[in-house]
Amino acid sequence: MPEKKKYVSVILPLKLDWLPCYSVPAEEEIRSGDRVKVVFANKSYSGIIAGCDIRPDTDPARIKDVTYVDRNLSPVTQEEIRLWKMVADYYLCSVGEVFKAAYPALKISQEEALARRLESERARRRKTIEGIRLKIARLEDNLYKKKKKLEESEKSSRKKEKTVARLIEDIGKINEMIIGLKGRLEEISEAGPESGTGIGPEDREDQGTEIRLTEAQETTYRQTLEAFGEGKPVLIKGVTGSGKTEIYLKLARKAMSEGKNVLYLVPEIAVSRQLRERLHVIFGDRVLTFHSEETAAARRNTAEKIRRSESDGRRYIIIGTRSAIFLPHTCLGLIVVDEEHDSSYKQDSPAPRYNGRDVAVMLATIHGCPLVMGSATPSLESVFNAGCGKYAMLNLDTRFYRAREAAVEIIDTSAERRKNGMTGSFSKKLVSMMEKTLQDGEQVLILRARRAFSPVLQCPECGEILKCPHCNVSLSLHKNPDRMMCHHCGYSAAFDPHCPKCGAVMHGLGSGTQKIEEETQALFPGARIGRLDSDTSGPQAVDIINKFNAGETDILIGTQIVSKGFDFPGLTLAAVIAADSLLGVQDFRADEKAFQILEQLRGRCGRREKQGVFMIQTNQPDHPVYRQLAEGNGDSFYRILMSERSEFGYPPFTRIMNLSIKDEDETRVELLSARLSGVLKTVLSETAGTMPDIVSDPFRPPVDRISGNHIRIIRLTLKKDRHLHDMKRLAARTVSEFEKKARCQGHVTIDVDPY
Ligand code: ADP
Ligand code: ZN
Repeated sequence: MPEKKKYVSVILPLKLDWLPCYSVPAEEEIRSGDRVKVVFANKSYSGIIAGCDIRPDTDPARIKDVTYVDRNLSPVTQEEIRLWKMVADYYLCSVGEVFKAAYPALKISQEEALARRLESERARRRKTIEGIRLKIARLEDNLYKKKKKLEESEKSSRKKEKTVARLIEDIGKINEMIIGLKGRLEEISEAGPESGTGIGPEDREDQGTEIRLTEAQETTYRQTLEAFGEGKPVLIKGVTGSGKTEIYLKLARKAMSEGKNVLYLVPEIAVSRQLRERLHVIFGDRVLTFHSEETAAARRNTAEKIRRSESDGRRYIIIGTRSAIFLPHTCLGLIVVDEEHDSSYKQDSPAPRYNGRDVAVMLATIHGCPLVMGSATPSLESVFNAGCGKYAMLNLDTRFYRAREAAVEIIDTSAERRKNGMTGSFSKKLVSMMEKTLQDGEQVLILRARRAFSPVLQCPECGEILKCPHCNVSLSLHKNPDRMMCHHCGYSAAFDPHCPKCGAVMHGLGSGTQKIEEETQALFPGARIGRLDSDTSGPQAVDIINKFNAGETDILIGTQIVSKGFDFPGLTLAAVIAADSLLGVQDFRADEKAFQILEQLRGRCGRREKQGVFMIQTNQPDHPVYRQLAEGNGDSFYRILMSERSEFGYPPFTRIMNLSIKDEDETRVELLSARLSGVLKTVLSETAGTMPDIVSDPFRPPVDRISGNHIRIIRLTLKKDRHLHDMKRLAARTVSEFEKKARCQGHVTIDVDPY
């Protein structure tokens, strides 16, 4: 007789649009969230039980057994599975891809190693306990015998004093030994199964002094709580330096005092480090961090603490970048999304191509917990959501320190060049302002949007531009050591200055951060200079930021990263060199993004008593973005941008999806993308109502070849109505059927809400 079975569906870390079915013995106790090993297409995978007692989707005889259920690993929570499903549904990817992002293979193997260690420790302890019990039993047996003997010899007529005395002495000794062993036994079992895992207790209580909010902050704080009461996410639009952080911290403290955990999201690791110090003063060891530069072991530790916090009652505030959303959150009482406009919240690749801010809103819904996001330059999406009542928007217009926002000065570099007013990349106006600032003992921050020494290498004789062999982009020249590098695929080679075409000596064209650093050093030989871009990473970056913060460097040069969220007390002059490279990208979001970066950079300086100065070097001094910074108030600019978006049918009034088609062969990519665009046009127009959703013709992205693949994009612009979700699904289904038919699986990727 065949053994009785039941069937389960399993989430695997793969791009599958269904959940494969497996069987387990009928008597096996199994629940959704359990961790299992299964074989799929002849490979072994770690998976998660999604559904139990399901009806098999094929012939039961062909369904494989679950290889084993790993009882040593903590099951995944139902909230985690719900979030994965929500994310997959919205971003049109598989639940497995979200699972893979949340539980990378390395994390799982770490978990398994920990579980094995715990298990072997438990086994060792069990053995020790058994050994001691056995000893005790033997001793008790011995004791019984001795007592018996003693009785006998006392009764006996021929009793010998000596024997009796020895027996009494022995009995005493044995008793002592038994008591000792019983004590050990208690000690061992009290140590519990978790001892020796390296996760120590954190029992420090709130140790900071109470934060005193200003009246304006207090009002915003109270309004935030009111909006929480209505169940709405809150968007705080607060000018730079208005003290939004202080409000988040008071909200966090409240949530934690009510026995809840707090998730505090920041866009960049570098920003999280400064914040961590600030939080540490208040919350001590209850601050946890989580980001991709931490070791797998550290991340696993954090996840374990959070998982366990449900039962051990310890509460934490977790600062993290977007991936912290996928921790096994329990008892979540507040989510903070700082600098919600920041494009670093968006994951480009691989799937899920999610926006951390928007997934945070999903997470809040699942946990029924309040969410607050803030920015001085909120995204148009969030402003739109506030406008239609989905979010509550609160304004905070006063800065904590009295200084007004930095004065803006626009420098027309083409005009300056004609007047001989430039030295290299710097205008003389900027140089003299820098001199003055340094003389006053204050600090300077310079943004240059390109890293490297020179972003382009060109031959002065024949005009040849050196390109990456795998990508359609020019190679950048990096110094110390001299190397040519591709910023798209990571290709790197020693720099040979001879033109491959004509042999003349090549020159670097334009100046990246390295060159700006060199020029600055030449202009200000006595100044202490730091540089921050993605070439300076990890602990080195922390050091650079800390030094600038402490006033140990005078000038900090860097890419966009320097505009983000920092609070440098001594900084009074900020400048951007070649600002137009921020506007360069042909994209409907270009103006919004440039405005956000520049306004944020301006907000870094003059954050104490003294008003700062913000200088913009540009070839387009009349560009509306710069004019708005100099003259307008942000609000009018938001109105202009918003009405442009509405007029042209761009987000947030519509939703866009980018389909990117990749192939090594250019003819084939052209063919595939033209055909796919045609199919989509037919399918979507058949179902559309009066105003059609728009399927673009395939077009080339700014970089149309990366890592040997030619790329074309098809953009779908979908109406935001009640059919939106169906349309997205229809598009996704059409793409996957197309891929199957054209035998080009994996060549098309879908990006919902691309940035
Ligand atoms: P934002 O994030 O809004 O740009 P921050 O929260 O960084 O501004 O605050 C700017 C500066 O003002 C910080 O140095 C902060 O410590 C200080 N600050 C803000 N509010 C308070 C307060 N209520 N008490 C003391 N210092 C404050
Ligand atoms: Zn390349």
